[in-house]
This record gives sequence, C-alpha cells and structure tokens, in this order.
Amino acid sequence: MNRNEAKTQLNHLTDMLNEYAYHYYVLDTPKVSDAEYDQLLRDLIDLEEQYPELKRDDSPSERVGGEILDRFQKVQHDVPMLSLSNAFNDEDLRDFDRRVQQNTGRPHRYSCELKIDGLAVTLKYEKGRFILGATRGDGTVGEDITSNLKTIPSIPLRLNEEVDIEVRGEAFMPKRSFERLNEAKEEKGEQLFANPRNAAAGSLRQLDPKIAAKRNLDIFVYSIGQLKGKEVDSHYEALQYVDRLGFKTNREHKVCDTIDDVIAYCEGWLDKRADLPYEIDGIVIKVDDLGAQKDLGFTAKSPRWAIAYKFPAEEVITTLEDIELNV
Ligand code: NAD
Repeated sequence: MNRNEAKTQLNHLTDMLNEYAYHYYVLDTPKVSDAEYDQLLRDLIDLEEQYPELKRDDSPSERVGGEILDRFQKVQHDVPMLSLSNAFNDEDLRDFDRRVQQNTGRPHRYSCELKIDGLAVTLKYEKGRFILGATRGDGTVGEDITSNLKTIPSIPLRLNEEVDIEVRGEAFMPKRSFERLNEAKEEKGEQLFANPRNAAAGSLRQLDPKIAAKRNLDIFVYSIGQLKGKEVDSHYEALQYVDRLGFKTNREHKVCDTIDDVIAYCEGWLDKRADLPYEIDGIVIKVDDLGAQKDLGFTAKSPRWAIAYKFPAEEVITTLEDIELNV
C-alpha cells in the first residue's frame, strides 16, 4: 500500500470507527460486533504507527468512550475514567509484563479480574452516604445518573463507615434478566437490545429511574477512585476494604505471582465463562502494588499498569482487506 492509499484507508477507518463508536456508546445500538470493531481499530493503529503524520485528531485510538447525552447533567471527573489497552494473546501479556518490569526495575504480582461487560460507573460517597453516580462519558466528563443508580439494590446508599470515598465499578445486566427483557420486548414488537452490555447502558441512560428499577441491574465494584484519610498499599487490599464498606466485589478475583500464572488464569476462563450468570469479555490484569501503579502512570487513553486480555472472537472478523478503499 502506498502513502496515498494508506491515507485514504486511514481516513476511511477513522470515520467508520467513529460512526460505530457513536452507535455503541451514544445510541446503545452497535452496528458491528466488538471483535470486528477491535480488529478494525488494530488495523487503524497499525497504519497510524506506519504513518504517524497522517493520524487524525479525532482518531478513536486516542479517545475514551463516546459523547455525553445532553439530557443529563454533566459531571467533571476528579480522577479521569480511562480505557484499557488490550492483549489478544500470550505474547501480548508477556510484552506487558516485560514493559512493567523494565519501567519499575522489578517483577510484580498481578491482580486478575473478570472483565465484566457492562457500563463503567463512578460512585461518590460523603461521610458514607451515596451522593453522586456518573457514567464514564469521554473519560473526563460523564453523565449524572445518580437516580438510576440508586435503583440498583447492590449499590449501598450508606456505607459501613462514615468515609469520603469514590469507587469505580461495572454496572451490568445478568444474562437471565437480559433474556427476559428481550422476550418481553419481542412480545410487544419493540426493538431488541443487541447484548446485555447495551441493555444495561440503555437502561441507565434513561431519564425515568422507574425504567432502570425494572431492569434487574447489578454491579461489581473494581477499584477506588479517591479516598480520604486512609492509606491502602495494594489493589488487593483496596478490594478487601471496599468489600468491608458494603460494596459488591467479584469473588473470582485472584492475585498471581508470575505472568505464567496470569496466562493460566486467562486460559482457565475461556471455557468457564459460558457458565457465568453474567457476560465477561476478557480478563483485566493490574499491577497489584499501588506505589508501582503510580510510578507507571498513564498514557492519554489508558493506565500503563493494567491491560485487558480479550477472549478470541468466536465469529468471523472483517479485516482491512475486506474494506473497499474506494470511499
Ligand atoms: P474496554 O471496555 O476494553 O476497557 C475498559 C473498561 O473495562 C472500563 O471502563 C471498565 O468499564 C471495564 N471493566 C470491566 N471490568 C473491569 C475490571 N475488573 N477492572 C477494570 N475495568 C473493568 O474499553 P472501552 O474503551 O470501554 O471500549 C472498548 C470496547 O468497546 C472494546 O471491547 C470494543 O470492542 C467495544 N466497542 C464496540 C463497538 C461496536 O460497535 N461493537 C464500538 C466501540 C467500542
């Protein structure tokens, strides 16, 4: 491919991915599968690496999430809500481990968690009382969906300690609830949700909290965003603490000593995931030591101390060659 062809292709991929992201994040009605989206994004990143000068300002490789819906109050995040970089195979995981070791000068333990396929939310508490809940939005500004989040029974309105804390978690719709919802929609001749992730996002981004209340949503809290007056040294400790405060955390979490153990954990979930009552789209691997997390820091889009291992796609993937250059 010469430079002109690359430019055409890069523009085409950028436009197409931005349109897909709009349907996925804003309208909650995806036009393509996640696997297809991820493959196209990788194709775009390859081209951007070959021709950095052609990379556009609105490239999806640089942006988190989607636009904010006007119907909600905007919430400025004190701590940004970022995306995660992806690993698609063992080699990507070993590269991640090598980078972490090179940048911190020593090996690390990794916290491995199921990557719940739902909607990232942040929950703020003052003196132990729930005061604000918001979507990730574009990572910097999210949507105030407090009233909807209050309808999720597993979100405590009052914590076991009078603490000022902000936690992050994934709100989701269990598989069974999703099936029931789509059955009811089908009976009424309404448009079905494509998957539980979109059903959860669509339910929480409604103005009327009665809708969210009927949708049987749930949450797993997976990290602390901000905490006043208490120190925690590791991610594992943070999870134990939020658990004690009364939040729901995922029990399948495991701390692994080596990257080989991480790979074994990821492989173990390839088959077992079908038996879970909720959908996961991968495994999130985080450096457990919070001091090392701080040293590693962030890129514009994601933390350098974490990576999402994505399960291999079960369906056919569109590749660059399948897309017409002539647009
Ligand atoms: P991401 O979903 O790959 O990773 C970041 C998110 O993981 C976090 O925001 C958080 O919500 C979630 N998460 C779940 N469990 C977690 C845990 N235990 N710890 C930490 N985070 C956890 O990143 P993204 O930027 O939200 O979106 C990219 C994803 O969205 C890709 O999988 C892509 O396929 C999909 N997407 C699909 C389309 C489409 O048209 N099908 C369009 C855009 C994006």
